[in-house]
Amino acid sequence: MVQPRPRKDPERNFPAQCGQKKGGNNVAKRKKEEDEDMGKVAIYPGSFDPITYGHIDIVERALEIFDKVIVAIAENEEKRPLFSVEERLQMVRAFFKDIPKVMVDSFKGLLVDYVAKTNAIVILRGLRATSDFEYEFHMASMNRSLNTHLDTLFMMTSKDYFFVSSRTIKEVARLGGGVEGLVPDLVVRRLKEKFKLPVTKKKQMGWDD
Ligand code: ADP
Repeated sequence: MVQPRPRKDPERNFPAQCGQKKGGNNVAKRKKEEDEDMGKVAIYPGSFDPITYGHIDIVERALEIFDKVIVAIAENEEKRPLFSVEERLQMVRAFFKDIPKVMVDSFKGLLVDYVAKTNAIVILRGLRATSDFEYEFHMASMNRSLNTHLDTLFMMTSKDYFFVSSRTIKEVARLGGGVEGLVPDLVVRRLKEKFKLPVTKKKQMGWDD
């Protein structure tokens, strides 16, 4: 599999000023009360099942525009996620643990209701191909009609990650393919645990660690 360029060192780009606040589903609410002057906040909602470097690239680039990005994991069982919300929260939090400008939370129900509990001024979404556009256009239009003050900002994928989606990562991993370099190491390990491959297959794939 083609290996993308080594990704940026998050610590170099976003030196830790203080520890990241931990919390459960009420992070957004608490932050609204505590941080009235947090600057420009964007919410990046999604399934993140699991998080990929495509998602991470969007967050890193958004931090050049916004003072804070809230990664908001949607609790939507209808999508039959591979990873539970807790597992997804843990993987995303682990990655961003040294970047206080990124908060990680989960939400149930309407995104606009969740956004209203935060200081966010914008919903952030990523676009890969034109196939993403139609769905994203409908969602952004619906959210705009539910809350006329709320805008959705789209960021184009990077050339290294245009082919990366959580769905294809899961498909490839399930069949024993390598996804290193496309998702954080912790996600690689969690995928290996989920798709318990037979020992012989693991050996063959170099997964014998
Ligand atoms: P959802 O189920 O809400 O689409 P995803 O976790 O699949 O959640 O995606 C969240 C957002 O991240 C979406 O806007 C999606 O288009 C974007 N995204 C996913 N993968 C990439 C990628 N490789 N490059 C850019 N954007 C991406």
